[in-house]
Amino acid sequence: MTVAPPARAGAPVKEGTVTVTVDQDRCCGAGQCVRNAPEVFDQREEDGIVLLLDPRPPAELRSAVEDAVVACPSGAVRIVED
Ligand code: SF4
Repeated sequence: MTVAPPARAGAPVKEGTVTVTVDQDRCCGAGQCVRNAPEVFDQREEDGIVLLLDPRPPAELRSAVEDAVVACPSGAVRIVED
């Protein structure tokens, strides 16, 4: 399941942000995303499935999110280009 809400038409987009999505159905709970970007990702306590804390993190976290994308063994983390 993708957690990131879709951008609303006409909604202001904060400058210098990136859009992140996670697919909880693909997530296997490995935790690499949290290790790379704990400001953006967390895991459910009961089963370790990813939680998206910030679907629009600031640009300075982009590198950390990119590392999370690469490190995720199940391809559950994505950056959506605007
Ligand atoms: S790295 Fe991928 S598989 Fe592991 S918890 Fe994060 S989203 Fe899930």
